[in-house]
This record gives sequence, structure tokens and C-alpha cells, in this order.
Amino acid sequence: MPNAAPSSPPAGGLSDGKALTDTRGRSVSYLRLSVTDRCNLRCLYCDSRMRQWLSHDEVLRYEEFLDIMGLGVKLGIGKVRLTGGEPFARRGFMEFVEAARARFPQIDLRLTTNATLLAPFAPRLAAAGVARINISLDTLNPATFARVTGQDQYHEVRRGIDACLAAGLRVKLNAVAMRGVNDGELAGFLGLARDLPIDVRFIEYMPMGGSEWKPEQVWRATDILSEAKALAELVPLERVSGGPDDSGPAQMYAIKGGAGRFGLITPLSNHFCGTCNRLRITSGGVLRTCLFSDRVYRLRGALRHPKLGLPAVERILRLASKVKPLGFELLAARRAGQGVCGTAMSAIGG
Ligand code: SAM
Repeated sequence: MPNAAPSSPPAGGLSDGKALTDTRGRSVSYLRLSVTDRCNLRCLYCDSRMRQWLSHDEVLRYEEFLDIMGLGVKLGIGKVRLTGGEPFARRGFMEFVEAARARFPQIDLRLTTNATLLAPFAPRLAAAGVARINISLDTLNPATFARVTGQDQYHEVRRGIDACLAAGLRVKLNAVAMRGVNDGELAGFLGLARDLPIDVRFIEYMPMGGSEWKPEQVWRATDILSEAKALAELVPLERVSGGPDDSGPAQMYAIKGGAGRFGLITPLSNHFCGTCNRLRITSGGVLRTCLFSDRVYRLRGALRHPKLGLPAVERILRLASKVKPLGFELLAARRAGQGVCGTAMSAIGG
């Protein structure tokens, strides 16, 4: 596996493995790992355009990510999502996925990708037992795709989707809902979810650092839903929490006569902070406990320190989890500002 340099010290000294909890009664069971800050697209809402990439040494090695996953398992993490930047843009990513599956078969391992580089890997992902892939696709129009992402790669993404379906992978398609960009495409997306066994989910455009976010670009979920109901017969589905059919924060709808489903993710209009169970660790080894908070906890130094290692990382994870904030409060407090989080999503991983 490329980049698999010696790992951090062994997990000796770890405590009893009690789950990570906070003072509001939430417990953490879901870890999002961003394996690279680099991306081959330059999406206008994500902004990986003006960033300085981390240097090779600053990025966690795959072995270090595996150590963190092992620690997570001990602390009650049951679900891990690998994201980026673009995860497939990092060399050796497929081998890392296979190593992670082999070492932690008990983890519900998922991926988020822009799918531009995905197609050749779909059979290997299926063989490795990665059953579910989230694909980001904001438009079904190749010209709009080029405008949003800065790259003319729409057809590569469609090939990636087709390859996943052919390999038997379950596909969730996430579109950032943007007025003036894709608000004329609801019929097309509903048609896709009608024809193919895909969950198509619109997520409200969040005011993240570095994005070109403006309030008038937010296409609210309530508006999307009423427009969608005029186009298709939608039946609301019970929220599923945990397990392979976990709907996460999405409200899902069956489409009458459709192979797939339709969903809405509402970080702005109907937050889900009360049930948030996530931690995020970036490729540089920075822990974030809330998407809307700029408070960070640096793990890399501790992880690599010969006398600290994983026990120190565990202590940081526990302390940080305890004071995990409620993102909607931060959002409300900074609503007047242009961005609520100073960091671009490309560096956090979504
Ligand atoms: N490159 C991968 C991809 O495209 O899926 C993973 C990283 S990307 C940062 C993860 C997700 O964050 C994508 O689904 C993207 O659409 C979403 N995202 C980025 N910026 C956003 C924003 N300002 N509001 C809502 N979603 C955003």
C-alpha cells in the first residue's frame, strides 16, 4: 500500500473503551475521515481553488488512519465515511479501502466521492464489501456541470454511477440545492430516481468558508418539496436510524412507481444537531466536532509523538466530544456574516 509508513505507537494504555459522549446526552458513533485535502474539481460552493495544499508530511499516512479507525472501534464508532478532497485522487486509496475492510470488518464503511475517477474501481469496491457509495452530482446538464465544478467531466461521473449500479453497489446521489444553478432541474433528478435504483438527495447550500454563498442562492427544502410534489407522487418514509438503511439526516420519500427514492437534507431550515453523532478528522489530522465550528483539535502531533500516540489521541477525542457544540446556535449567531465556518468544505470533507 503506497504511503503506508510505520504507524504510530501501539494502543497500549487505552482506557476501558467507554463510548464517546457529550454533556447533552449525545453519543458519537460516526467518524468521517477526509483522506486528502486535494480535489480534481473546483466546485463554486466548496472552493478548493485558492487553497494551499498540505505538504506530504502534513497529511496523515494510511497506517495512521487505520490506527485512528482502530481507536474509534474501541470507543464505539460503528460507521466510518471516507471522504476528501477527492478520495480517489489520493494514490493508493483503493488499497487503503481494502486494508480498512480487512482489518475492521465490523465497521459500516462508506465513501463519498465526486465519481470522476470511480468507474474502474466499482467492482473492487463491491468485492471488498463497501456496499454504499455517496456520489456528489449537482446537475444533469454537462454545461452546468462544467460551470459548477470548473471541469468538463460530467460523462465520467455518469460512467461512475453506471459502474456502481452494474457492480451491485447502492448509490446515493447528493446535489447541493442552489437557486440560479440547478433549481430548474428537479424534474430531471426525479426522473433519474424514478428510472434507476438511486437515492437522490438535495442538500441545502451551506455558508461555508471560501464558498461564493449568498442568501438568495439558498433553495430551501420546503420549496424543493412543494415543487417536487407537483412533479411526482411522493410518499414520506419513516426515518431509519442506524443499520444499513440508516437515512442519516435525510427525510426520504418513495416515488410512486419509481425504482429509487427522493430525499432532502436540511442543515439550514431544519437542523439535526440534537441527534448529531459525528466527528470529523481531516487529512492533516485535525479533529472537528461540528461542521459550523472553527474550533479544532490537532491530533497529528500527539499521534506521531513517540511518548504520546493513541492514548493521547483518545484523551483529546474524549475531551472534545464532551463539549461538542450545537451547530445551529453557531449558525444563528453568525447569520449576518457571509460564511459561518472559516474553513472550506474541501478541507473538511463535507
Ligand atoms: N470530493 C468528494 C465529493 O465531491 O463528494 C468529497 C468531498 S465534498 C467536500 C463532500 C460533500 O460536501 C459533497 O457532497 C459536496 O456537495 C458537499 N458540500 C461542499 N460544500 C458544500 C456547501 N457549501 N453546502 C452544502 N454541501 C456542500
